[in-house]
Amino acid sequence: MSDCLFCKILKGEIPSQKVYENERVYAFRDLYPQAKEHLLFISKNHSENINDMIGTPNDIIAVFEAIKSYTENETEMGKDGFRVVTNHGKLGGQTVFHTHFHVLGGEQLGSFGS
Ligand code: 5GP
Ligand code: ZN
Repeated sequence: MSDCLFCKILKGEIPSQKVYENERVYAFRDLYPQAKEHLLFISKNHSENINDMIGTPNDIIAVFEAIKSYTENETEMGKDGFRVVTNHGKLGGQTVFHTHFHVLGGEQLGSFGS
């Protein structure tokens, strides 16, 4: 989508710090990290949120396979632990409407929900 921030990142129109990429998935560092490691995993196919993305379930599987591959092979997070979060809609705190999965780790994380 031409006016989507993360589609612009995928096209290279907006710079990003890539940490992982394959033919279906792209992952990059969050601009405003909320943990020592804070990455965003996205499908290269645009969808607005998880309820939209479930229409293309292979995209969800591809993102979670990418998270597994990256955390296990390229970081300590696979053995140390990490958190995956996705925000849905306004009250959920979603600000970018290209489905994304926050991967947080690199330190002990606290409780969440506030
Ligand atoms: P949401 O609030 O929609 O769940 O998450 C959007 C995330 O995108 C936020 O954590 C925010 O810090 C991050 N973000 C917003 N704009 C940019 C950007 O231009 N580049 C990067 N790398 N992250 C961004
Ligand atoms: Zn998009």
